[in-house]
Amino acid sequence: MAVDARGGGAAGSRAAGTLHVVATPIGNLGDLSPRAMEVLASVAAVCAEDTRRTRQLLAHAGIEQPLLPLHEHNEEAHAARLVARMLDGDSLALVSDAGTPLVSDPGFRLVRAARAAGLRVSPVPGPCAFVAALSVAGLPSDRFVFEGFLPSRAAARRERLSALASETRTLAFYESSHRIEEALADMRDAFGGDRGAVLARELTKVFETVLDGDLDALAARVAADADQRKGEFVVLVAGAGTDEDARIAEGRRLYAKLGEHLPPSTAAKLAAELSGAPRKALYGGTTAGTGNGEQGMGESG
Ligand code: SAM
Repeated sequence: MAVDARGGGAAGSRAAGTLHVVATPIGNLGDLSPRAMEVLASVAAVCAEDTRRTRQLLAHAGIEQPLLPLHEHNEEAHAARLVARMLDGDSLALVSDAGTPLVSDPGFRLVRAARAAGLRVSPVPGPCAFVAALSVAGLPSDRFVFEGFLPSRAAARRERLSALASETRTLAFYESSHRIEEALADMRDAFGGDRGAVLARELTKVFETVLDGDLDALAARVAADADQRKGEFVVLVAGAGTDEDARIAEGRRLYAKLGEHLPPSTAAKLAAELSGAPRKALYGGTTAGTGNGEQGMGESG
């Protein structure tokens, strides 16, 4: 693949450069793709969140490149200068500390400025923690919502979670070791202890662990086991059941209760009328839907 590090124009009319947005590993350095290495080696400079970390990554790949610090606090100020440099013909790469830039990481302002200037912005896709978690969670993944980090203040975090309580798509959160216990407890309170969830910890690293179960079980496990609070986390939570699921769950609850005193057919008729659930759905089985409501917990890793 040809990479236009310097543009190809004649002297005095260099073609504009490209901004390459390059995903890097989320733990295992073997996940740096050959194309990522090729692009990182070919550009005029690499914009990096933490230049020390990126220098280590590049050294691992045998690449030496000028590094330009680009983080949340200086991105707006630097974007114009970087865009000018690319318009002048230099191609640049943008990386973050781990995973895909712009996903809970800096880069949005630079990408926006580059696009506004008509520059080519090209992705080198690769690792992303919540996508990796989703790929092994066994939760519905056809539709999901990425929420990133929850607010650090307890009141704001609870407010955010309560606003998400009836979201039917799978929810994806990022969380750090010092807040994982509180975050799980707040999720349990906001979504209900029987809501299915998956805790993906230290993905691609030595202590990779994927726990699944309901929020009651996960919150209890993390509270009881300090090892399960170490490292980096993705929390995936099953979406809320649909209205139909809720009606069926209520119908089954009524059917079980009324069945203690009434013949089954009368109990079913009454339960269906009171809940709005179809009568046929009340006999046997568990509630259909995305929340798995299991009491137990699974583990891999
Ligand atoms: N840009 C990154 C991505 O593409 O996933 C995310 C950067 S964000 C600042 C860092 C957060 O991602 C961590 O606090 C954690 O929630 C999650 N994360 C990163 N690496 C992870 C890993 N190896 N296992 C689990 N979660 C991880």
